[in-house]
Amino acid sequence: QEGDRVFNFAAGPATLPEKVLLKAQSELYDWRGSGMSVMEMSHRGKEFKSIIEKAESDLRTLLNIPQEYSVLFLQGGATTQFAAIPLNVCRPEDPVDFLVTGSWGDKAYKEAQKYCNPKVIWSGKTEKYTKIPSFEDLKQNPDAKFLHICANETIHGVEFKNYPIPNNATGLLIADMSSNFCSKPVDVSKFGIIYAGAQKNVGPSGVTIVIVRKDLIGNAQESTPVMLDYKIHDENNSLYNTPPCYCIYMCGLVFDYLLELGGLEEVEKMNKKKADLLYNAIDGSNGFYRCPVEKSVRSLMNVPFTLEKSELEAEFVKEAAKEQMVQLKGHRSVGGMRASIYNAMPLAGVEKLVAFMKNFQAKHA
Ligand code: PLP
Repeated sequence: QEGDRVFNFAAGPATLPEKVLLKAQSELYDWRGSGMSVMEMSHRGKEFKSIIEKAESDLRTLLNIPQEYSVLFLQGGATTQFAAIPLNVCRPEDPVDFLVTGSWGDKAYKEAQKYCNPKVIWSGKTEKYTKIPSFEDLKQNPDAKFLHICANETIHGVEFKNYPIPNNATGLLIADMSSNFCSKPVDVSKFGIIYAGAQKNVGPSGVTIVIVRKDLIGNAQESTPVMLDYKIHDENNSLYNTPPCYCIYMCGLVFDYLLELGGLEEVEKMNKKKADLLYNAIDGSNGFYRCPVEKSVRSLMNVPFTLEKSELEAEFVKEAAKEQMVQLKGHRSVGGMRASIYNAMPLAGVEKLVAFMKNFQAKHA
């Protein structure tokens, strides 16, 4: 890392590519000869228009988003989408199915209860959210309006490696991709809606990206607030009201950078390499470190692990911080440690963590 920067393993807001931060720094005061910072620009001016259009176009290239999908840059976090989705695609009485593989899927389900009639068709809760079920065994409701999944559970470190086929009235699969968005290629055409808060892989907090199939737009429940209505945002190219301009600009710089790296196939290769290194260190520690998640569904992004001697966990986190590796404490609901290794975490950060883990083990074995 350059200068005084730490290796930041936070789950989000998370580390951003150094190159992107330096680029943003270089144009913070005067964006490309405009005499203004992006923070000071009118969202309706030609400068910002060029920024948001390029961000969208680069994202479309990265994810190969088909023309029949709209890309929306919204506010309110992924949490707002938990309500916006049923409000946009369901009537209050409509049944929908939820596959709950962690806390975020559970939160989405609970919020949906206010706006439609959701049912949990599978939950990993009794197994402490360490699994994804076999899709053949799922009992989907044929009348459901959609099937909802959380593609990567940030807290529990459980990631879908492939996706269930929605066997419901509309054939709609909807995914919260907040914590693995743009970490690997995704066949967007398999989904009705993909949504993601930006603050893990693609930018700062404050903007939420929604990729929605166009035929799903325009059916919002009557009481839907204007800010949650996809039709309003779609018709106005995400400029109905003042958007999170600076966040969109930062996402645009990240998209540009990911394309420069060679696109999402390359990004996935780098992410796999980092995750393999870390999981191998955990599995090869003779039980000193443990990851509870079933091997086949371990997340490439969020790696939860515990110490056999749990009384050493606080010391682990403290000692790591002394060596400039921060935010390794696990989520308060599960304890232990968690290393989030999103796109922008360099391989060197994971190598340093693994070396630290080996030393820590040698000291305390
Ligand atoms: N979904 C997932 C998978 C998340 O990891 C998070 C936040 O960490 C959220 C939803 C909530 O996102 P936000 O804080 O943007 O509302």
